[in-house]
Amino acid sequence: MEAILNIKALVSNESCFQKVRELRWANGVICPHCDSTDVIKRGKSDSQSARQRYECKTCCKRFDDLSGTVLEGHHQPLLVWILCLYFMGLNLSNQQIARELDLNKDDVQAMTTQLREGLVKKNTPSH
Ligand SMILES: [Zn+2]
Repeated sequence: MEAILNIKALVSNESCFQKVRELRWANGVICPHCDSTDVIKRGKSDSQSARQRYECKTCCKRFDDLSGTVLEGHHQPLLVWILCLYFMGLNLSNQQIARELDLNKDDVQAMTTQLREGLVKKNTPSH
């Protein structure tokens, strides 16, 4: 438990968002609405100072680092998701991850299932 508390303290919110950007946009920011790469930065989120906002010059829609990802609108903090990814990379079981992060095993199972399907949600033809 001590070790995990230290890890959580070491991982900053800024570095978590940085990691998300690296994972989803390794080759540059792409608009989740129209796949355009003609995107400009539009400041940071009011509620989370590390969360970068963007505006697409092609479709004029706005989005941010978490738009269109499985992390968006989830009740777990981004840090927990990033640590979950980290532990998955170490091949820990859901049960081990639950213990390390002090979470319910069912919650962890739901998270790892989503993460295995990909950080970015599949496009649904519902809209
Ligand atoms: Zn767009």
